[in-house]
Amino acid sequence: MSSSNGAGNSEAPQRTRRAQRGPRKTFMELVLSLFPGLDLLGHAFTEQGFCVVRGPDPLYNSRIEDFQIKISAGGVTGIIAGPPCQDFSKARRVPPAGHGLRMLGELLRVIDEARPEWVLIENVPQVPDVMHPLYSHQRLDIADCECGGTQLRRRHIQFLSLAGHTIRPIREFTRPRHAAILTSATAASSHTYAEICRRQGFGAPVALPGWSREAKVRAVGNGVPLCIGRALAIAVSRRSPPDLHGDCICGCGRPIKPPATQAGPACRKRMERRRKWTAAKMAWSVTAEKAEYTPQTPAAVRSQTPASVRSIDGELRHVGSRRAG
Ligand SMILES: [Zn+2]
Repeated sequence: MSSSNGAGNSEAPQRTRRAQRGPRKTFMELVLSLFPGLDLLGHAFTEQGFCVVRGPDPLYNSRIEDFQIKISAGGVTGIIAGPPCQDFSKARRVPPAGHGLRMLGELLRVIDEARPEWVLIENVPQVPDVMHPLYSHQRLDIADCECGGTQLRRRHIQFLSLAGHTIRPIREFTRPRHAAILTSATAASSHTYAEICRRQGFGAPVALPGWSREAKVRAVGNGVPLCIGRALAIAVSRRSPPDLHGDCICGCGRPIKPPATQAGPACRKRMERRRKWTAAKMAWSVTAEKAEYTPQTPAAVRSQTPASVRSIDGELRHVGSRRAG
């Protein structure tokens, strides 16, 4: 069973399909993968024609704290990153250690050094916004079962763009068969390693000779499922300026049919939640002093944004309120 829209809106207009499937960029894009782990996300981007280089990771005995980009900005077109999510996870049993926020600071430092055209960050729903005054900021959630996979668990994606571009992942909803891959020892013990690899999108078990079963399950289970990775890689290759009359104002990248401003009921709820949380919600951002990375409200970060690079989010909301008026 399938429908064309994960938000449950069966009226997805045809025009926007073409926009979503717009022309791919034809030049080679060099992408730096930060916090790669096994780099399932990088694997999906490579499959779609990006040239992905892997950054440091404790798995390979290297740390982002020791990593520095010294060659001039402009060499790296994009950054993909899956910073550690334990501090932000609902499943956390102990108070946050602060490591998660420190890693977001390191990520912003590398963004500052590399000044890529775009940045794509994957994490859990509770992660703060990662904002930089020079980049537009789009936040959306996406599930494996919306991209051809079988898992329900949602991943939160943040897309930052120097040119103010937006991404529109193509969602083809299928009925989920599995809640998620859980990487805890108890949950993982109920599945074979081969089954976990299969659910993450691999045809055969990923060979990790010498690894314990628990380490293998954690490494594969923590990765971004390949179906989501492919949908994101295609969306990034087709990024384009926001379509103020065609994109949902919630930033999910789904198409709308005017005079509607939201793609479906889930988008309306998302906007309501965002309005309630905005005052208290934290954004981890780079300050004007550049060396410091401090928590601020998203509105405070937006106020530092030069007029030439306005937030997609704010711009769309502005158009939405104009239309509503
Ligand atoms: Zn939406």
